[in-house]
Amino acid sequence: MTLSSTKFIFVTGGVTSSLGKGIVSSSLAKLLQARGYSIGIQKLDPYINIDPGTLNPYEHGECYVTEDGAETDLDLGHYERFLNLPTSQENNVTTGTVYQAVIDKERRGDYLGKTVQVIPHITDEIKWRIKLVAEKNKYDVVITEIGGTVGDIESLPYIEAVRQMKWEMGSSNCLVIHLTLVPFLPASGELKTKPTQHSVKELLENGIQPDILVLRTQKVLTDDIRQKVALFCNVDITSVIESIDVQTIYEVPLYMLKEKLDVTALRKLKLAVRREPALKKWREFIFKLKNPKKEVRIGLVGKYVELQDAYKSITESFVHAGAMNECKVELVLIHSQQITEKKVSEKCKDLKGILVAPGFGKRGIEGKIIAAGYARKNNIPFLGICLGMQCAVIEYARNVLGWTTANSTEMNSKTDYPIIDLMEEQKNVVNKGGTMRLGAYSCRLKKGSNAYKAYGLPEVRERHRHRYEFNDKYLRDFEKAGMKATGINPDTNLVEIVEIPGHKWFVGVQFHPEYSSTVINPHPLFVQFIRKALDE
Ligand code: GLN
Repeated sequence: MTLSSTKFIFVTGGVTSSLGKGIVSSSLAKLLQARGYSIGIQKLDPYINIDPGTLNPYEHGECYVTEDGAETDLDLGHYERFLNLPTSQENNVTTGTVYQAVIDKERRGDYLGKTVQVIPHITDEIKWRIKLVAEKNKYDVVITEIGGTVGDIESLPYIEAVRQMKWEMGSSNCLVIHLTLVPFLPASGELKTKPTQHSVKELLENGIQPDILVLRTQKVLTDDIRQKVALFCNVDITSVIESIDVQTIYEVPLYMLKEKLDVTALRKLKLAVRREPALKKWREFIFKLKNPKKEVRIGLVGKYVELQDAYKSITESFVHAGAMNECKVELVLIHSQQITEKKVSEKCKDLKGILVAPGFGKRGIEGKIIAAGYARKNNIPFLGICLGMQCAVIEYARNVLGWTTANSTEMNSKTDYPIIDLMEEQKNVVNKGGTMRLGAYSCRLKKGSNAYKAYGLPEVRERHRHRYEFNDKYLRDFEKAGMKATGINPDTNLVEIVEIPGHKWFVGVQFHPEYSSTVINPHPLFVQFIRKALDE
């Protein structure tokens, strides 16, 4: 592959996981973008799954879906929310995809005569996938985040690929930023740099001298600490960047700007600093976020509520839509397994809106159905997403149409009323990975509907991730009884949105609006949902 003049930045992590590599990478990308550079951003994941589509959200948080239908790591969601640019398949690479590609080539005979090895075959494949992102869009800079923590056995091939790229391209074309933790020990009242020193040593053992260190900390770093880290880790003092805990992840770019992470990176890459970053809209958003004029309580009903990351895109969509409405959204997480007919009014007490979350399988389904019914009967603004929409439909069938045994065939394959059923093309699918209806599809909106009013458009494209659908056979019955299909796929006629006219705001969507909400473009359905919850 011939390379244009793209420069590469790698972000690695040390000491512990969950330090926020994704947020630091997105923040740097945001700052460079705001200075007028075109930026690509990518995540390399060390696990052997081909993608996180088959992972339980408890394992790895939400599975994020791109427009082109890739099931990816949730960090891609941060990239899109920060950069306001769509990502795609190439932006997430896993060890599984790398090995599969290499083994496929081996079977094809591409390496005839050679022993296939981690170096060079696996590392070449990794490097190719990094450069592919650069090549496809001729970016000025590509930022590649390496999942996991340095020292993990799984990350080694990625670290080695980075070492090679740095060696091949030179340090003014290729930069390594290492993110570590500086813990505060309350007993001695001190910040400790030893874990950082060890983790840099680990990188050095793998042949990489990091260029910039970003230190996560709860307390301000003194000059002494910065100097100590610089000396022991072999970087100049301006390359020691403090990343202190802030109120919201959206403040991190501003903090990184203050710490000159972007300027330091540009200087090392021998790129012009150009203008001050254009962050007016971003700052306005943060101002609104931090200075809400009102507050609204919304219930999020799901079965993975113990783990915040499981509904990352939904919770962030509320942050965006809340700020847009100058309103703080207090999200009440409600476990669907704890909702029963008896308990529902207590669980949903004081809620001004109810969102029933996406999901798979039987567990917690009856609670979701009851919650949708509670919103319907009590005229509480309701947004049902994917399985949440299906639950609203099931509830309507059971309690309004009187089909008490109605269900989705996902939950009961023998139901008398299969009102949610497997799509025709899904019936012969055996493999679970990557075989759902995935990615963006068109949806035509009915004039006058809530959806039409929210979007202000006759047709939209939204992302999907599901196997089951509203069963067309029953559409007339539903419409006669008062539940309307207000969004239809123009190519297949599948029902994409249902609403109950006359209700304050009752919208169920088969797609996932949360994947496309960004800071700059909050999703219209979430914005409208909050507006209705505020009674406006
Ligand atoms: N389990 C449902 C289906 O496959 C809904 C999926 C979802 O909520 N993402 O259709």
